[in-house]
Amino acid sequence: MPAPFKLAPLPWDEDALAPTISAETIKFHYHKHHQTYLDTLNKLVDGSPYADLKLEKIVRKTQGASEAKDKLIFNNAAQVWNHDFYWRSLTPSRTEAGAALDSAITAAFGSKDELIAQLAEAGKTQFGSGWAWLVSKGGKLAVEKTANAETPMAKGVNCLLTVDVWEHAYYLDYQNARPKYLESVLGKILNWDFAAQNLTKEDNAVRAAAE
Ligand code: MN
Repeated sequence: MPAPFKLAPLPWDEDALAPTISAETIKFHYHKHHQTYLDTLNKLVDGSPYADLKLEKIVRKTQGASEAKDKLIFNNAAQVWNHDFYWRSLTPSRTEAGAALDSAITAAFGSKDELIAQLAEAGKTQFGSGWAWLVSKGGKLAVEKTANAETPMAKGVNCLLTVDVWEHAYYLDYQNARPKYLESVLGKILNWDFAAQNLTKEDNAVRAAAE
């Protein structure tokens, strides 16, 4: 859908992830932070050639831009996409990776515990604001971290899961203890079913990036 963009609804009730993530955090994070990125993006693209493009395409076209306005558009567009992907990476329900994702995890990391340890390390060592990601490249899984609004999607990399490690994602619940937030999120509320669905979309992701 081209602009004006709208926030996708959260995939669960605002209190559904508590106590791992409180309703208060979700209220600020979704209704203030995510909404502000969206409102800013809509103002920036209004009347510009970007207004007719899909969100993903705007992110890819403005990735690495040198002009100030395009940098701003990238930051806000990527943050809209990253947050929507983050909400869908989380779930209060018990989910299973399933056979295809399980074997890809075993091939790349040896075990799910090792994958979770690597995601925790990526999130913990991302200096300042950013994101930790599980991605697939040619069917091979990898853990990545990105700074600020940067997203592997912008480079055509297929994303399976993400965790927001900006302070606003955890400060109300964990204060400065980012590792505790990561331990709880990674151990309790990751949506493995969403990751498994994304694993099947790699060809689409690569094709869209090439457009
Ligand atoms: Mn955030």
